[in-house]
Amino acid sequence: MSGALHDLGVAELARKLKAKEASAVEVAQHFLARGKAQASLGAYLSTDDEVTLAQARAADARIAGGESAPLLGVPIAHKDIFVTKDFPSTAGSKMLEGYRSPFDATVVRKLGEAGMVTLGKLNCDEFAMGSSNENSAYGPVKNPWDTARIPGGSSGGSAAAVAARMAPAATGTDTGGSIRQPASFCGITGIKPTYGRASRYGMIAYASSLDQAGPMAHSAEDCALLLSAMCGPDLDRDSTSLDVPAEDFSRSLDASLQGLRIGVPKEFFAEGVAPDVRAAIEAALQQYEKLGARRVEVSLPRTELAIPVYYVIAPAEASSNLSRFDGVKFGHRARQYGDLTDMYKKTRAEGFGDEVKARIMIGTYVLSHGYYDAYYLQAQKIRRMIADDFQQAFRQCDVIAGPVAPTVAWKLGEHGGDPVADYLADIFTLPGSLAGLPGMSIPVGFGDARMPVGMQLLGNYFQEAKLLNAAHRFQQATDFHLRRPEGI
Ligand code: GLN
Repeated sequence: MSGALHDLGVAELARKLKAKEASAVEVAQHFLARGKAQASLGAYLSTDDEVTLAQARAADARIAGGESAPLLGVPIAHKDIFVTKDFPSTAGSKMLEGYRSPFDATVVRKLGEAGMVTLGKLNCDEFAMGSSNENSAYGPVKNPWDTARIPGGSSGGSAAAVAARMAPAATGTDTGGSIRQPASFCGITGIKPTYGRASRYGMIAYASSLDQAGPMAHSAEDCALLLSAMCGPDLDRDSTSLDVPAEDFSRSLDASLQGLRIGVPKEFFAEGVAPDVRAAIEAALQQYEKLGARRVEVSLPRTELAIPVYYVIAPAEASSNLSRFDGVKFGHRARQYGDLTDMYKKTRAEGFGDEVKARIMIGTYVLSHGYYDAYYLQAQKIRRMIADDFQQAFRQCDVIAGPVAPTVAWKLGEHGGDPVADYLADIFTLPGSLAGLPGMSIPVGFGDARMPVGMQLLGNYFQEAKLLNAAHRFQQATDFHLRRPEGI
């Protein structure tokens, strides 16, 4: 990328700042102005120029003091699911309208310590429940490639902000695909690490056994830098944080792909995959072969079961996590109510949107006495089998590749409020989430209506560096990640 500041990625901006060709304040002002000019996309939920510029000045002081850190002075925007002390944190819900956290999420803190400057908070589906960003209480986000279409979800604001060059990078969270799918729909790069790598402390909980944070940016090179700063043990604050030291995920970006075995699961190319997506993925696989990789057919026989399994387990955990929103400690409280029970009822009826309510009811149902064995326990057993299927596949290959989603981004309102249509579109991202594996999405072409198509790369546990290497080599040979929406 070259030219204007907003065309630069994270690594390039860092180089420019280090060379003192631009100050962190100038860079932040530039992106803030772009955010304001494109407010109609609905990506930002809150910004505060004073706070951002104060952080930028602090970064400039560190640069002036001779400090050189890889992310120093580079701006980033955060999905509004991360709590922040300097900006409101809503999780896209009316329940948390105007809520101010007394602390920063660990991921936000770590990126701040690395010298990154926060541009603001980004729209998302309410409590990260959704695939289109249409479930936000603050309105949908529009896809910068076609504003009549959804950006994907739940990290739709993050993907749109990066695609529209309103931020060079953003944080996202992925419970069942929410980093990979919006990255794919908006033509950007995103990675979800192995479950437990990035701290969940301060990430407003949806389904705790699945939720993971990760970066969304233009390139794999940028994602590697960001992920290195985001990950690391946080044992005192997150009980599922892994006691594995932080890693430099950039270390093997340039390694050769000669002999890399790419597993292509036949179930990822079943009838439901649209021809345009299929063609773009096929072309990407051929590109990988040119780079020296070898294609191996593998099988993930329980791919279809990932949908019912996930949509039992995630709502079950959500119903428990969301019980904290009762109008007592924080968030919305109904203005008028009778006794305590009435206060709970009215608060929750007013504060939560329809999709969240539906999931709380489903979750409560599958956990209830009498149905627990039939649904929840059964789902847990199949979850284990899905994880085992991946281990079987990884005996034959180094990474797994396939589509992120069966189609390109659909039109706003196209699913007509039918949640099952959204759930079915999650088919290819859910299996990796249920297994806790690292996964990423990279732009590999364009499909119908010239909308971006992303390819999913899944690795075995702790193989993030390998995924980023595979993605980076592809991006060195192609320019899909540099394309931008018309008029942007
Ligand atoms: N679409 C999935 C859901 O609605 C995944 C969302 C996510 O990863 N946060 O639950």
